[in-house]
Amino acid sequence: MTQEIDRITFELTVRAVHSGPDDVWMQGDLHVLINGHPPYSINDMVDPAALLRSLAAEGRYFLFSCTCGAPECGGWEQGIAVSHRDQLTEWKDIDKETSWRFKQQDIAEGLREVQTEVDFFKSFFRVKNIRFYAPDLEDRGSAT
Ligand SMILES: [Zn+2]
Repeated sequence: MTQEIDRITFELTVRAVHSGPDDVWMQGDLHVLINGHPPYSINDMVDPAALLRSLAAEGRYFLFSCTCGAPECGGWEQGIAVSHRDQLTEWKDIDKETSWRFKQQDIAEGLREVQTEVDFFKSFFRVKNIRFYAPDLEDRGSAT
């Protein structure tokens, strides 16, 4: 039986954050959708830096984490085993004993699209003098 290829897409959500009455900034968060749904709960987030590292080297990564920053708080005890073969990337959720296979091209293109959005918002908010924080998703140096 051949395993099907899963569809992976990425989304950028932009929201206003405040830490006080006079301190407001914009924040961009990366989201991962697999076959149209996030593989994590609403209390979890994506770790963009871990995701980028996992594209360059196989291994075990905490691609997802509780928003507090502790993966195990969100039930991610062992993380995701990432492997690359034949233009495909496999993610194996060790805790939930689930795995997905994606086209590497889908990941690269999806992240590039989000990066374009990030760049757009960056320059937009800069002109308005509004701070904007978002992950940098450019794969610098990795051969594709
Ligand atoms: Zn937590």
